[in-house]
Amino acid sequence: MSSTLRFQVVGEAFKKKAIDIPNREDRPSEFFGKYVFNKQKMLKYLPAKVYEKMCDVIDNGTKLDLATADAVAEGMKKWAMELGATHCTHWFQPLTEGTAEKHDGFVEHDWKGGMVEEFTGKELVQQEPDASSFPSGGIRSTFEARGYSAWDPASPVFVIGDTLMIPTVFISYTGEALDYKAPLKKALQAVDKAATDVARYFYDDVTKVVSNLGWEQEYFLVDEGLYAARPDLLMTGRTLMGHDSAKNQQMDDHYFGSIPLRVAAFMKDLEIQALELGIPCKTRHNEVAPNQFELAPIFEETNLAVDHNMLIMGLMKRVARKHGFRCLLHEKPFAGINGSGKHNNWSLSTNTGVLLHGPGKTPTDNLRFVTFIVETLMGVYHHNGLLKGSIISATNAHRLGANEAPPAIISSFLGKQLSDLLDALEESDDDKLFNLSGKQSMTLDIPQIPELLLDNTDRNRTSPFAFTGNRFEFRAVGSQANCAAAMIVLNTAVAEALTNFKERVDALIAGGMDKTKAIVKVVREDIKTCKPIRFDGNGYTEEWKAEAKRRGLDVESSAPRMFERYLDKESIRMFERMGVLSEAELEARTEIKLETYTKKIQIEARIFGDLCLNHIIPVATRYQSQLIDNVHKVSEIFPAETAKEVSENNLKLIKQISEHSSFITEYVEKLIDARRVANRIESELDKAVAYHDTVAPLLEEIRYHVDKLELIVDDELWPLPKYREMLFIR
Ligand code: ADP
Ligand code: MG
Repeated sequence: MSSTLRFQVVGEAFKKKAIDIPNREDRPSEFFGKYVFNKQKMLKYLPAKVYEKMCDVIDNGTKLDLATADAVAEGMKKWAMELGATHCTHWFQPLTEGTAEKHDGFVEHDWKGGMVEEFTGKELVQQEPDASSFPSGGIRSTFEARGYSAWDPASPVFVIGDTLMIPTVFISYTGEALDYKAPLKKALQAVDKAATDVARYFYDDVTKVVSNLGWEQEYFLVDEGLYAARPDLLMTGRTLMGHDSAKNQQMDDHYFGSIPLRVAAFMKDLEIQALELGIPCKTRHNEVAPNQFELAPIFEETNLAVDHNMLIMGLMKRVARKHGFRCLLHEKPFAGINGSGKHNNWSLSTNTGVLLHGPGKTPTDNLRFVTFIVETLMGVYHHNGLLKGSIISATNAHRLGANEAPPAIISSFLGKQLSDLLDALEESDDDKLFNLSGKQSMTLDIPQIPELLLDNTDRNRTSPFAFTGNRFEFRAVGSQANCAAAMIVLNTAVAEALTNFKERVDALIAGGMDKTKAIVKVVREDIKTCKPIRFDGNGYTEEWKAEAKRRGLDVESSAPRMFERYLDKESIRMFERMGVLSEAELEARTEIKLETYTKKIQIEARIFGDLCLNHIIPVATRYQSQLIDNVHKVSEIFPAETAKEVSENNLKLIKQISEHSSFITEYVEKLIDARRVANRIESELDKAVAYHDTVAPLLEEIRYHVDKLELIVDDELWPLPKYREMLFIR
C-alpha cells in the first residue's frame, strides 16, 4: 500500500462519525431469549405431553425417543418459521477452536411435483456431517471414517438470521469424541456425581450438583480500514511487527474510562443481539490496554455457558463489522501492551445452594465449605501441569508469563482469612475442635469464618487460580479459546479429588469412626498434601519460579511440551476412571494440539518473511536512496568539509538502514531454513518443539530490526498502519 493510501485509510477511520446507536423501546426482560426455543416457547409450541417429556430429558437427562423427537421438531419448525427461518443446521465445536455448521433447507418433495416445508425428529436428533475435513488426530484412520453430530437437548436451539441452530456433540462412528462438548458433558456428569455424594455427608436433600461458569471475555477493536491494511493482522490475528506507540497504557487512563461513542454503539448493539439469543450479558467496560474492552454475562451452568461463549465470539465479530470495526480475539494482537484473556469464574452449586459459598450459618455449613475448597485445591494440585496444558496454545503462550497475565505456573491464591483458616484447621486437634454436647451428637467448632471473605483490596491479580469469595477464578484461559478445554480438566480433576475423598472417609466410617471426625481427619490430611499449590505472593518474580520448582509444581514454559501433560499416566488414569476421555482420545487430542501449534507458527513465519522482503526492505531501501541522493546533492553545493558536517546525520541513518536491512535479509533466510528443517521432522511432538525452539525465536529477533527501521524510515513511506493509529483511532 502506498503512503497516500495509508493516510486515506486513516482518514476514513476518522470520518466514520455516523454512529449507528441501536434503539429499542422494549426492555431486556421483554426481548431476552427472543430467538431461543426455551421452556417458555416449548410450552407454547409443544403438546403438553411432549413438553413434559422434554422437561424430563433436559432436567434429568432421560433418553429422547424418536416419536417425541418428531413432535418436538414439528413445534420447533413452526416457531422457527414464524421468525423467518428457512434452514436448519447442527452447530458443533470441533477441535479447531471455532464452531462448525452445515445448513439444510426445510424442504422436501411433496411427491406431487411440488415442495413442502419439512423438519423431522431424525434431522433434529442426528446428522452426518463429513468428518474428514475436521481434525481428528489420527482417530479416523485408527477407528472409523465417518462421524456424526447428535443434539444436546440441555442446550436450547436458537435462530440466527434464516437458520435454526441446533447445538450438538460431534463424535466418530465408533464413539470417540471429535469435539469439546462430548467430553465436557461427561466431565460435568462426573463432577455432579462425585460432588453430590460428598455434599450428602452434609445435607440429605442434595440430589444434584451443577458446575457453573461465568466467563469474562476480553477483546480489542480496530478500525476495519486499518485492519485491512495489515496483512499480518488479517492472516494471523496479531501484528508480527510494529513499534510501541509513544503513548500506550502507561497512563492507566483507559481502564474503566468512559467508553468511546462508536464503541458504545457497538457494545449496545452486541448486547441487544446477545440478550435476544439468551446470553445474559451484564457487564461491559474498557480494559487496561488502549482499544481493549471486556464483556461478561451472569454465570450459567457450564455446558450452556460454554455454548454462549462460542456464540458470542462469533457475534462479536459480526456486529463489529457492522460498526466499521474488526474485533480481535487473539491473546496478544499487539506487543508491549496487555493481551486478552478470558477469566473463567467457576463454582459448584446444589439444588439447595452454592457449595463454595462461605461462611456457613452452622458448623456443618462451615465444614462443607472447607471440604469443597480443599478438594478443589487437591484436584488443581494433582493436575496443575495438565490444567496448564488445557489453556496453552501458540497464541496464549504470548500472554502467559508476560508481566500482565497469570504466570506460566499454576498456583492458587486464597487470601489471608481463608489461608489462616486452613492453617488453623491443619494444626488443630480433635479435642479442641469437637465439643461434646449431649451424649451422641458432636458440634464442630471451626474458627469463625468472617462474613466477607475477601474484599477487593485483598485480590491478587497475578494468581492464575484465585478464590474470590464464592468461586474460583481461573485466569489463564486465552481470549479466543473454547472454555470447554479448561472446564473439562478442572471439573474432571475436582471430580476425581472428591471421589478419592469419599473413598477415604467411607473407609474410616466403616472402621467405626464418627462421620464428622472422619471428614475432618481426611480434610486435615489433604490440607497438608495440597499445600504446595497455595501461593499468595507475587507470581511474576524469579524467586517464585525457583520456589515453585522446589515445591514440585509444573514449571514447563514451552507450549508443545505442556500439551504432553495430557498423556501423563496420572492424566490418563484420571480421565479414564472418571469416564471422560479414553487414552486413544487423549492421544488424538494431543496430536491435534501439536499440529495446530506447528501450523500457527508456520503461517506466522511465512507471512512475516514475506512482509519483511516485500514491504519492509524495499521501503527501507527507497528511503536510503533518498538519503544518499541528498548526500550527493549536498556535496555538490558545499565544500567537502562543510558537506561532511551537513550530511553527518544522514550518513549515520544510511549506515543504520544498511545494518538493519542486512540483518533482516540474512535472518529471513535463516527463518526459511529453520522451517525447512522442522518440516522434515516426522514426530508431531518433535516438529512442534522445533518450531518452538528454532523458528519462533527468529521472528522476535528479526522483528526488533524491523521495528527499529519503523522509527528511522520516513513516515510517509511506511507501508503499514502503526500502533498509534490502530490503538487510538476509535
Ligand atoms: P471481575 O472483573 O471483578 O473479576 P466481573 O463482575 O467482571 O468480575 O465478573 C465476574 C464473573 O463471575 C461474572 O460472569 C459473574 O456472573 C461470575 N460469577 C459470580 N458468582 C459466580 C459463581 N458463584 N460461580 C461462577 N461464576 C460466578
Ligand atoms: Mg475477573
